Amino acid sequence: MGAGHEFDLIRRLERRWGPAAQGLGDDAAVLDVPAGSRLVVSTDTSVEGVHFRRDWLTTGEIGYRSSVAALSDLAAMAAEPLGMVVALTLPADLAEAIDDIGNGIADASRTARCPIVGGDLTRGDQLSLTVTVLGFSVHPVRRRGARPGQDIVVTGRLGGPGAALRALSEGRMPEPTHRERFARPVPRLREAGWLAQAGATAMIDISDGLAPEARHLAAASGLTMVIDLDVLPAMAGLDAAQAALSGEEYELLATVPAGPDLAAFAHAFGIPLTRIGAVQDGEATATFLRGGDRVDLAGGYDHFSP
Ligand SMILES: [Mg+2]
Repeated sequence: MGAGHEFDLIRRLERRWGPAAQGLGDDAAVLDVPAGSRLVVSTDTSVEGVHFRRDWLTTGEIGYRSSVAALSDLAAMAAEPLGMVVALTLPADLAEAIDDIGNGIADASRTARCPIVGGDLTRGDQLSLTVTVLGFSVHPVRRRGARPGQDIVVTGRLGGPGAALRALSEGRMPEPTHRERFARPVPRLREAGWLAQAGATAMIDISDGLAPEARHLAAASGLTMVIDLDVLPAMAGLDAAQAALSGEEYELLATVPAGPDLAAFAHAFGIPLTRIGAVQDGEATATFLRGGDRVDLAGGYDHFSP
């Protein structure tokens, strides 16, 4: 790279990234895909004012979260990460924040053991990050593979990001545990590998909320997802409807053969795996039960009496 402000910024990013970046310096990245496996690719864009606000998150958290959103899609496919490519649009007033943004991206890269293998940097009016992730899998797990009689399981405890967002939008300080789940989500890559080993045939990551994602699985598989809100794993102080409608969780929702070893999962990863329902023949939608009665989550939790 020659002289110039943009190259200086790129050099700064590369210094930040250190060993988190691999094989930079060519016109394109070159990656080895293990023989017999398939390439799995996903991309995710985060734009200031649309996907995040700079007064709600630090620039480091913005870099981290944008990367995790993309990495979580590899987890949803039960793919192992190969590399990530980061395209950054930076407003002039944020040039000095590039170190923090770079740190956040590198954090996500290290967490997921997914090296940064390329990128692009441009000037623009709004901060925007587009993260493309590349992974591989012999048997990617898709949304359409659910089968009648399977259990529906979810990783982790839900509701934190939704509660944090609600507090922020009402001008309140979120609970620290809720804010942590919002600002520092974890891509469930190793957990996805466990679920695939346990025979998961359909999987999705919870970016829009458990209820909408369950409907996506149901639609893709042409089956009914019956989900019991009474056993939904909500964070302390939150009710099941809040947990079911909380987005940006980056937990995994999967269908597995009946009777997965929930204790073994919890022991391996330190987070719960909860059986929340079953796959049935029928209309391609999700049905939610509370106390055995069907409840409607479509209209949001305000419509849903506690
Ligand atoms: Mg997804």
